[in-house]
Amino acid sequence: MSDVLVPPGQALVASEAGGLLIEGHGLRRVFASGGVETVALAGADVAIAHGEMLAIIGPSGSGKSTLMAILGCLDRPTSGTYLLEGKDVTRLNDDALSAVRCRTIGFVFQSFHLLQRSTASENVELPLIYAGVSRRDRRHRSRALLESVGLGHRLDHRPNQMSGGENQRVAIARALVNNPRLILADEPTGNLDSRSGTEILGLFRRLNNERGVSVILVTHDPRVADKCDRVLEILDGQVMRDSSRIGIGDGGGR
Ligand code: ADP
Ligand code: MG
Repeated sequence: MSDVLVPPGQALVASEAGGLLIEGHGLRRVFASGGVETVALAGADVAIAHGEMLAIIGPSGSGKSTLMAILGCLDRPTSGTYLLEGKDVTRLNDDALSAVRCRTIGFVFQSFHLLQRSTASENVELPLIYAGVSRRDRRHRSRALLESVGLGHRLDHRPNQMSGGENQRVAIARALVNNPRLILADEPTGNLDSRSGTEILGLFRRLNNERGVSVILVTHDPRVADKCDRVLEILDGQVMRDSSRIGIGDGGGR
């Protein structure tokens, strides 16, 4: 696997500047629909350093996806503050928020979210079209990324011609196309058999170890959480346990 996942040094720039990658204080998110209010996040505090590989666990409905959406600048908290790389992003308008998102974050979802009629290569190229990259450079970059996730032989296959694990690797290649410093993955192994899940996790681990990309993933699977350096447990919209604060945490290598 080659070194094109992220150009060397790219992921280190921000951490050298010091400070935390993520700092959320009292994050609250209330959904109101049909006269009913649901408190999805009830004042969660979260601090994550550059270069961490962290799992978020917790029962269904505890607020994990809501937290991920806020951390990923896809949503804003009802109250509380969120600093991403030291910048208060809760005050940004939609355009500025989406610019931060494109520059900084790659997303991976449980159900892959690939365009079914497009090839693996076209799926990976898509974010580059929005960035105005030429067709030739797009193709070149997408091929290199797909090769780096072990799919050099699947460039022109469509999602329904590939396995779930291969689809998720295409989604990871797409998430990496803009050189994000942070990968957010919501149940990335949830639709995969255990062998494919292990492969996907290995890919995240490699990105984290070799390139310093920070990885935050939501999982139901204790074996997946176990492979991360730190585990946050969410319950009723709050962070109830943090392995780095309760003595389990040795900062990695578990
Ligand atoms: P998890 O990912 O841990 O399963 P979620 O963050 O998806 O939990 O949801 C937390 C709570 O917020 C749940 O009670 C859910 O029903 C509610 N919720 C999430 N999104 C919305 C929404 N868009 N509108 C109303 N309620 C929502
Ligand atoms: Mg969820």
